[in-house]
Amino acid sequence: MRIGVIGTGVAGSLFAATLMRNSPAVSIHAFDRIADNGRDEAGTGLNIGPNAVKALRRGGCRELQELVTVSLPWRRWLIALTDGTKLIDLDLSDVAEEPGLRIRWSHLYHVLRSASAACTHYDRSLEALEQDAEGRLVPVFRTSAGELIREGSFDLLVAADGRYSRLREVVDGPPRAVYPGIGTWRLLVRDSQCPIDDYGQYFCGNARLLSFRLPGDYAYIAGSFPLAGSGSVPRYLKTPQAQRRFFEPRSGSASPAVKWMLNLMDRHMDSMNWARTQEIETVHHALDRRVLLLGDAAHAMYQTLGQGATQAIEDALAAAHIAGNAPASQDQVCTAYEAKRRDRIAFAKRLTREATDTLMPGADVIAGSLAKAREPFLSNLRQLYADVA
Ligand SMILES: Cc1cc2nc3c(=O)[nH]c(=O)nc-3n(C[C@H](O)[C@H](O)[C@H](O)COP(=O)(O)OP(=O)(O)OC[C@H]3O[C@@H](n4cnc5c(N)ncnc54)[C@H](O)[C@@H]3O)c2cc1C
Repeated sequence: MRIGVIGTGVAGSLFAATLMRNSPAVSIHAFDRIADNGRDEAGTGLNIGPNAVKALRRGGCRELQELVTVSLPWRRWLIALTDGTKLIDLDLSDVAEEPGLRIRWSHLYHVLRSASAACTHYDRSLEALEQDAEGRLVPVFRTSAGELIREGSFDLLVAADGRYSRLREVVDGPPRAVYPGIGTWRLLVRDSQCPIDDYGQYFCGNARLLSFRLPGDYAYIAGSFPLAGSGSVPRYLKTPQAQRRFFEPRSGSASPAVKWMLNLMDRHMDSMNWARTQEIETVHHALDRRVLLLGDAAHAMYQTLGQGATQAIEDALAAAHIAGNAPASQDQVCTAYEAKRRDRIAFAKRLTREATDTLMPGADVIAGSLAKAREPFLSNLRQLYADVA
């Protein structure tokens, strides 16, 4: 079977590397629009759930050790108010078998993309899809020089090209998106004075600051705030004054950790990454089971439990296992993948949505946060972190 992978972010690179390593009989070719692996410094920081660590360990993936080397363990989940009032401080060892990881996005990409580089063609941005005389799929790429290129035909194409997947759009139309009313900015800063160690969230009404320390004196800071409507974040909200109004306590003063975050927010307003939370319908396969969708291309996750990259890792390992075990056809790969992943993805999606309740306009932040240290939320979290196929 000849498999083409579109996109070598988290899911695509891990899928391609695992298949290349474990199943030499499969012919695998990956494509990405970036120029090469070394030059990508994109992104901020992210936390990877203990369930992805468990999946990598059980899959015998050598990338795990490299990821551990360039990350810090994620062991706790603190929720407080921006005036410093502590609400919960969850020890992840109560709900998971091992810690998660706190990592720079560029380091995660570098480790995973290095493992798949041998089968990857860079500077290939998917533009369109054709079929050859035998009905096999022929992706059409555009290079940065504007040239259109075809790299042969494939029995199965894997859409791993992220939230704005061109392949999904071509084979299934633009995904319907739901906007729950949350805007977010994200920032990676180098600051040796970071007063926050592990994963901490700080609420003021339904607005939330989030931060954790990363290797090399770096820190990740994110702010989420109520944002009605759809479309990009309006310019009038992209100022220190507008953002401070969301996060400064209504009475009393901000805690030292929150002051530190707000000062950095003020200084780095121009280099922030802004986004609006959106939910898209899950699609596992398309085009008569000739296109398999993984990661954000298939299902974007809400931001609270660090499950975006985490589920992309679970997807990639499950798909590589199925595709590597001599299935007779691409149809069987898609069918077996959906049977294995459908319920798990639906569960993770539901739980990340539930865990994001306190960011929803009007939600009771104190009650919603305290509920995260009680049943049934803890049992759900245990299932998320431990129940890895
Ligand atoms: C700012 C931000 C912060 C986040 N923080 C977290 C977090 O803390 N924890 C967490 O688990 N998740 C987090 N996520 C989500 C997480 O990054 C994604 O869920 C994860 O990267 C999805 O992996 P993926 O492989 O599906 O897609 P991606 O990692 O996005 O990879 C997509 C790949 O496709 C390539 N590509 C795109 N279009 C084309 C095309 N037309 N042709 C060829 N190649 C193409 C891209 O270059 C890229 O390499 C965050 C997301 C954002 C935006």
